[in-house]
Amino acid sequence: MIGKKEIQISNATRDRVEACRLYIERKYAKQIQEEQQQLEGWQQLSKLMDALHMNPKEQEIIKKEILKKEAEQMRKKRTKLSIEDFQPLAIIGRGAFGEVRLCRHVPSQQIVAVKKMKKHEMIFKNQIGHVTNERKVLEEAKGNNWIVEMKCSFQDEKNLYLVMEYLAGGDLMTLLMKKDILSEAEARFYMAELVQAVASVHKLGFIHRDLKPDNILLDNNGHIKLSDFGLCKDAEIHFDKPVFSQKFKSKQTRREKAFSTVGTPDYIAPEVPLQQGYDGSVDWWSVGVILYEMLVGYPPSYTDDPSTTCQRIIRFQQSFAFPEEPKVSQLAKDLISKLVCDANTRLTYDQIIRHPWFGGLSIQKIRDMKAPYIPTIRSELDTSNFDKYEEEEPWINKNQKSTKKEMTFVGYTSQTRRF
Ligand code: ADP
Ligand code: MG
Repeated sequence: MIGKKEIQISNATRDRVEACRLYIERKYAKQIQEEQQQLEGWQQLSKLMDALHMNPKEQEIIKKEILKKEAEQMRKKRTKLSIEDFQPLAIIGRGAFGEVRLCRHVPSQQIVAVKKMKKHEMIFKNQIGHVTNERKVLEEAKGNNWIVEMKCSFQDEKNLYLVMEYLAGGDLMTLLMKKDILSEAEARFYMAELVQAVASVHKLGFIHRDLKPDNILLDNNGHIKLSDFGLCKDAEIHFDKPVFSQKFKSKQTRREKAFSTVGTPDYIAPEVPLQQGYDGSVDWWSVGVILYEMLVGYPPSYTDDPSTTCQRIIRFQQSFAFPEEPKVSQLAKDLISKLVCDANTRLTYDQIIRHPWFGGLSIQKIRDMKAPYIPTIRSELDTSNFDKYEEEEPWINKNQKSTKKEMTFVGYTSQTRRF
């Protein structure tokens, strides 16, 4: 028995080893590929210069010039960002691993949102993949209007940081808490945008997996952008972890629920906890739940306790219903029940955009249309569209060792991009 116990490896260790293996593999494969490309580049240049009948002296000058430029670029790339470059202005969000603050990047004077995540919390909660995923998706999504722009990422001894554009309109959860319910015309706008946004994530080859109102941000004009890609495809949701059986205090607010590791399960499709294997259609389930919430005021499986909610989701065929009040149109009910349904019959993107509830709205052009709620933003530093948060600990820990030093962290290398 004892012998058997000794060779048992915990899931956490297995995940860490796997993260390590992937990191090493990726790092060296990339390095070899880069060296090969560099060699080919030099060979091509030599051929070209020969073809142009350049003499060896001229060729040498050109090569030296290229090497000088490359060295300069490398030097710029190595300039490490540090948290000391970011002046904290206000706390705008708090999540499972840390907080999000509005900051001024002092050297460039740019206003940005910085998400700070504690490494030890992520290791403890076995969510290392969380940040690697988030960074990977945000990096690949550059230029996508539907996804919050990541400016750069870096780390120090204790924390990982994602520097993002600041979306001053707040998030959809704050809007829903303020309005309680939306009219169908208003909901149609957010649904159309959400459908386009999710389709663009799928086009990049990712599944969001954590779509919920607090991860849908509003820009200055009230248009949406998706954020929080931590649970995006490849990362695992650990339903067997105590976070799910843990009872939430009954008076806990909607906002507080978003702080827990996996947050509220309200928006998760049943095939995820049932571990039946799933694809991008899990996001369409969440979109259906969000539409229900916009029109009814709360999600369909809402309870005070996450494990009960989870049970209700798994047995949605028995529990799913619309209340008498508020009234929801037949077409909206039809669309919702074709999203909050078995994965085999769930509508696809093409079917969703053709659903009569949209009434011929040109969904593809939705971002050019006027939003139903234009946020009031008095200045670029305005945080009035966010909840207020008390500071729990200082932004910069003075006892910490110099943050300028490059640190490596399994599955997450320090990477910087200049502003
Ligand atoms: P978590 O993984 O902890 O849920 P999020 O990335 O969702 O972290 O951020 C938590 C909250 O911070 C969001 O719900 C939102 O209110 C706010 N927030 C996050 N990123 C931004 C941003 N770029 N601009 C404005 N607010 C943001
Ligand atoms: Mg979130």
